[in-house]
Amino acid sequence: MPDLALLGGQPVRTEPYPRWPVFDDAEVQSITKTVLSGRWGGSPFPGPNTVEFSEKFSELMGGGIALPMINGTITMEVALRAAGIGWGDEVIVPAYTFQATAAAPMMAGAIPVIVDISADNYCIDPQEVERAITPKTKAIIPVHIAARMTDMDAIMDIAKAHNLIVIEDAAHSHGACWRDKCSGTIGDFGSFSLHSAKIITTGEGGVLLCKDKNMAERVASLIDCGRPKDANKQNFTMGENYRWSELHAALGLVALERFPSQMDQREEMADYLEESLNGFPGIRFLKRDPRLTRRSHYRYIIKIDPEHFGCNNATFCYVLIAEGLPVDTGYPPMHRYNLFQPQLSKLPVPAAFPEYFDFDAMSFPVAETAAEKEAVWMGEAIFRAGKKGIDDLVNGLLKLQQNRDKLPQIAVEFADKIDAYNLPIQFLKKKV
Ligand SMILES: *Cc1c(COP(=O)(O)O)cnc(C)c1O
Repeated sequence: MPDLALLGGQPVRTEPYPRWPVFDDAEVQSITKTVLSGRWGGSPFPGPNTVEFSEKFSELMGGGIALPMINGTITMEVALRAAGIGWGDEVIVPAYTFQATAAAPMMAGAIPVIVDISADNYCIDPQEVERAITPKTKAIIPVHIAARMTDMDAIMDIAKAHNLIVIEDAAHSHGACWRDKCSGTIGDFGSFSLHSAKIITTGEGGVLLCKDKNMAERVASLIDCGRPKDANKQNFTMGENYRWSELHAALGLVALERFPSQMDQREEMADYLEESLNGFPGIRFLKRDPRLTRRSHYRYIIKIDPEHFGCNNATFCYVLIAEGLPVDTGYPPMHRYNLFQPQLSKLPVPAAFPEYFDFDAMSFPVAETAAEKEAVWMGEAIFRAGKKGIDDLVNGLLKLQQNRDKLPQIAVEFADKIDAYNLPIQFLKKKV
C-alpha cells in the first residue's frame, strides 16, 4: 500500500492542474485595440466594448438587460437599492455562501436574515425561507452553488405569494439552467461575478441582469453617479461610481467567446468523474434535480462520511492537498464570519435590531455539517486536465481510502496545521 504523501510517500500528482484564467494572443489583441482607441474608462457609460459585451452576455444567458459593473457584490447592493430596499428591511440569504451575499444587503442598510440550506443540494432551503418571512421581508437572495441550482420553482412561488424581490446570486453558476432558463434570468435580478477565479472573468467585474426596463434604468443611474438614464428625468439622483472600464470589457468579449466550449469540456469531465466515483465507499454526490437542465462547474462539491474516514473534511482535504490535488473545505457557515460581529460594525442596523445579530445564538445545522464535517470542494481546474486529471483525483481518493486507519491520528497530530491551511477556518470567529 503506497504511503500518503503527507507521511513521506510519493504524491499522486506532481504536475499542477491547468491555470486559470486561460488566455492567449486574443486577449492581448483585444486589450491592445482598446488601448490604441484611447477610450479606456467607463465614462460616458456605457462605452462601445461594454455595450457589445452587454448584448452578447444577455444573448448567452437568453434574457435580461445586462449591466456590467465593477464586481459581483456591488451588483447585489445596487439591485436592492434600485428596488427601494434599505433601512429596516429584511433580506433572506443562505447560511452557506460567500460573505458578499450578506454584506450586500448590509451595505444597502438592510438586515440579512440568514437561513439554512438543503442537505440535498447545499442551496437555500425554500421551507426555511418561508419560515423566515416577516412583514419586513423585502427580498430573497438564493445562491446557486456546487454545480446545482436552488429550487427556483419554490423560490418564485414564495416570492410571488409575499411580494418579494428575487436576486439570484449566480456567481457560481454562469450558464446553468433550471427548466432550460439560465440562472440569473429567473428572478427579478441575476448577479454575476467576473472575479479572477470565476468561470467568466475579466480580473474584476460583475454583471447584473435585470428583468425590468425601469429597474435597469435605475441601476444604470445608480452605478453612474446618479446620472439620469430615463429621458424624462433631468436631474441627478443619489448614485456612486461603480462603472466598469472598457479595458475590462475588452477582456470580457474574449471570455464570452471562450466560455461555451469551456463549459462543455467541464461538463464532459464532470460526467466522467461521477462515473468514476459511483459507489465509492464513504463518498456521496449532491442530489441532481431533473429540473436542473444544464449544469455549470465552478466548484464541484462531494460529501464525505466522516465516520467512514475517521476524520472531518478539513483533515481529508489536508491529506489530499499533499497528494497534489486542488481541494478545499469551502465556505464557513455564514454566522461564523468575523465581519458580521456587531462590535466590528458601525452600521446602525445592529443597534436597532440586536436580535438579528446574535450570531453566537444562531444555529444552521445543515450548513454547519457541510462546512465543518462533510463538504469537500474541488476547483474547476480538475475538469480541464483531461481524463488524467480526474483519474489522479480518483487515485488520490483511493489512496486515502486505503490509508483511512491513519486519518484519526493525522487529525490529532496535524491539528494546528490543518486549521491554518484551510483558508475558510481562518475566517472563523472561534474554533469549531
Ligand atoms: C465571487 C462571489 C461573489 C462576488 O464576488 P466579487 O469578488 O465581488 O465579484 C458573490 N457571491 C458569491 C457566492 C461569490 O462566490
